[in-house]
Amino acid sequence: MTKDIWTVKRIIEWGKNYLQEKNIDSPRLTMELLLCDVMNLQRIDLYLNHDKPLNQDELKLLRAYILRRADREPVQYIIGHTEFYGHRFFVNPAVLIPRPETELLVQYAAEFAKKIKGENHTALDIGTGSGCIIISFAKMFPQWKCTAIDNSDKALAIAEKNAEALEIDTIAFHNADVFERPPQKRYSIVMSNPPYIAAKEMENLEPEIAKYEPKTALTDGDNGLSYYTYYATLFPKIIRPGGAFFCEIGFGQSEEIQKIFTDKNIQTTIEKDYAGIPRIIWGIIK
Ligand code: GLN
Repeated sequence: MTKDIWTVKRIIEWGKNYLQEKNIDSPRLTMELLLCDVMNLQRIDLYLNHDKPLNQDELKLLRAYILRRADREPVQYIIGHTEFYGHRFFVNPAVLIPRPETELLVQYAAEFAKKIKGENHTALDIGTGSGCIIISFAKMFPQWKCTAIDNSDKALAIAEKNAEALEIDTIAFHNADVFERPPQKRYSIVMSNPPYIAAKEMENLEPEIAKYEPKTALTDGDNGLSYYTYYATLFPKIIRPGGAFFCEIGFGQSEEIQKIFTDKNIQTTIEKDYAGIPRIIWGIIK
């Protein structure tokens, strides 16, 4: 009865076609990621195990995963992790899924951190979510004292789990709403990827984002600019003279946001992402 045997190769082919019919992006890659999780394999191992049959439990779990993905749940939430800055981060629907563009924020902050003079440096991440930004930063700068805040306990639980799994003990995590309880100290570097989607644009999002990612991580419920407007008055109070801030910004926002900062006498630089879209704003506090 060989036709009833679901081998790795056969199930990838079947699932790829099924997901393709459901208009899911990258159907083969998706199948491979789901299968790796179910069988506890690395992607490279899939090819070495092409003819390996799946047992009943594996088939059952994989079927459930495929149905969830067909319902547009992001693969990262299904398998519970993703890659960011070369590290594995746990994610769940309490946190935004780390995006490759955000790696640029870490990269620019790191370039600045390498050059900054003085000692006893500190870094702050506002709205840490999964912790991807500050943890990736802390991995490179173990001598820096880091702080991460978020207004969600569920997000902080994931961020702390990620810090522990990546063996980082230089970050203090706190629950704080930055508007209500702004930081009281001064930091050498402040980083933030705030919710920047305007409320009226929420309806245009893909279901993966709209249905599954945390709303408060996506939108400020307003015009998408309220965090930057607040940051332009906050940053001079919480960044040391000579220190800097690095924020992610949304598509089409760079000019407005740059003006928000120049109106407060803060000069900024915009950096583009891999798609050529202005994505990071940074500036030095005098
Ligand atoms: N800092 C996290 C990230 O960049 C979460 C950001 C957010 O929730 N807006 O992925």
